[in-house]
Amino acid sequence: MVGFEGWGMSSSLHIAIVEDETFQRRLLSDFLADQGFRVSDFGGGAGLRALLERELPDLVLLDVRLPGEDGFSLARHVRGRGPQVGIMMVSAAGEIVDRVQGLESGADDYVAKPFVARELLARVRSVLRRVRPPAGAARVRMGRCLLDLEQRELRDAGGAPQKLSASEFDLLRIFAAHPHRPLERDWLMQVTSQRERSAFDRAIDLRVTRLRRKIEHNPASPLAIRTVRGVGYMFVPEPGEE
Ligand code: CA
Repeated sequence: MVGFEGWGMSSSLHIAIVEDETFQRRLLSDFLADQGFRVSDFGGGAGLRALLERELPDLVLLDVRLPGEDGFSLARHVRGRGPQVGIMMVSAAGEIVDRVQGLESGADDYVAKPFVARELLARVRSVLRRVRPPAGAARVRMGRCLLDLEQRELRDAGGAPQKLSASEFDLLRIFAAHPHRPLERDWLMQVTSQRERSAFDRAIDLRVTRLRRKIEHNPASPLAIRTVRGVGYMFVPEPGEE
């Protein structure tokens, strides 16, 4: 068994799969096992619930459409067991609503079928890195600042803490978790607005403007949080930071 390279872990990480389609389940299971993960797979929620009674896997991959129970209620059940389990929802292509629902149910990420194996693997690793950060990895460089995900702090190059509201932290955390991915404005709104509800549809834009003043070398031409025309925003890490 190969470990998760660069993690210095002696035992392999455990991924649980819930997928009712046998072929899909075997495909996923074999692929992830080939990548060195320990894999448990189940055709429905009952198997996963039984597993959770015995141990917590590092990550669960949940099919959204399951007979008798949907993936979201399972996701809520898993999240109820602890924040340290990564949750990825697997949905049918084009189900935009699912990913919002998924995130609301406590999922960390979603992937739409059909997926490319390499992309799935990259997303799985990204979620695992977030839920099981290796020492020091809970800090993300964003522009001229360093975001500490555990301390929920933003510090500038000189180490001085920057003021950060809860909603600003949430937004930075989402950006940090999805580097190089254009994130839709509406989606950002949905996943970060639990604390600070605003009917104001420019709330995300204003929050981004405030954040740029804090983290960008030059807020007038932002490089860390870029505008993606017609979509929203994208976090681009500093060169050499990945
Ligand atoms: Ca299904």
